[in-house]
Amino acid sequence: MKRLWLLLLVCVLLLSACSGETPCQTELFAMDTYMTIRVWDGEEALLSECAQLIYALEAQLSVTRSDSELSALNAQGQAELSSGTLSLLAQAICYSEKTEGAFDPTVYPLVESWGFPSGQAKIPDDETLAELLSSVGTAHIHCSDGEVLLDEGTRLDFGAIAKGYAAQCVAEYLAEQGVRAAMINLGGNVQTLGEKPDGTAWLVGIADPEEPSQAVATLRFTGSMALVTSGSYQRYLELDGQRYHHILDPKTGKPADSGLLSVTVLAQDGVLADAYSTALFVMGLEDGVAFWRQEQSFEAVFITQGGSIFATQGASALLSGCDFTEICA
Ligand code: AMP
Ligand code: MG
Repeated sequence: MKRLWLLLLVCVLLLSACSGETPCQTELFAMDTYMTIRVWDGEEALLSECAQLIYALEAQLSVTRSDSELSALNAQGQAELSSGTLSLLAQAICYSEKTEGAFDPTVYPLVESWGFPSGQAKIPDDETLAELLSSVGTAHIHCSDGEVLLDEGTRLDFGAIAKGYAAQCVAEYLAEQGVRAAMINLGGNVQTLGEKPDGTAWLVGIADPEEPSQAVATLRFTGSMALVTSGSYQRYLELDGQRYHHILDPKTGKPADSGLLSVTVLAQDGVLADAYSTALFVMGLEDGVAFWRQEQSFEAVFITQGGSIFATQGASALLSGCDFTEICA
């Protein structure tokens, strides 16, 4: 009898569903960051399926894991890629072209030369940077029939889009499974799905670049959205008292010095939001605003080195908790 009760209890736990106003949640560490996934409806087992999906994407796209699909391409200079990786590469090339190379998936030799993968800061000299820059640019990637060929010295890094892509994949998977409300937070790359059952808006904080554990402002909105922040505070190395952050300007090979501390992009698509947050950080406020006016596919919040906040018209309507300047179309 006792056994039967135990079996019933296990079955109930396995089939337990998320419903009502309190979400089910899972936390995991992947892609070098802490992640949280919350769903307001659907089977609780979906959460571990989402975690498996993220681990699989990490195994496919990581540039630091020697067994990943991307590392095999980087090591051999050519490879036949899976359809998922190929589609992400096509998107990366498209966003690189649109941003005139401010986002560039071929920056890996530069990223390595500053010591980011190992965490050991190094300062490459101008000669080294000039040599590495000669193999940076999407013109060095050649694709045909699923086969990708890289010019000598060219290596890919999906670090600026992998989390946005993973959040997008998880949101699409949950939607396919009939989930109507979810929030996916992959280390600050946030993706919302649908509306919360209690009808309240989604609230997402923008980190204070000077005090990243605190929010400097809040974005309030309803419905499905991707919100991605790129900031110099998120990852940096220190050498001789000097900080070197991880977002590189593909034109100089050096950490971008565009006058910004962070850029948050809001868009319907997670990969676009992630690629553009990196690109806008490199472009700076003026060029970033010109790009926003031209593209019209996203909204953005810029925080400058002086601490001023600028929000594009659509983002202004969602922003609260801070003083900011609205940028009109
Ligand atoms: P994110 O935090 O999304 O802005 O991405 C930054 C990461 O992408 C870095 O840690 C690098 O691995 C890589 N990266 C750095 N600069 C660039 C760039 N200009 N374009 C594309 N990827 C970059
Ligand atoms: Mg990015």
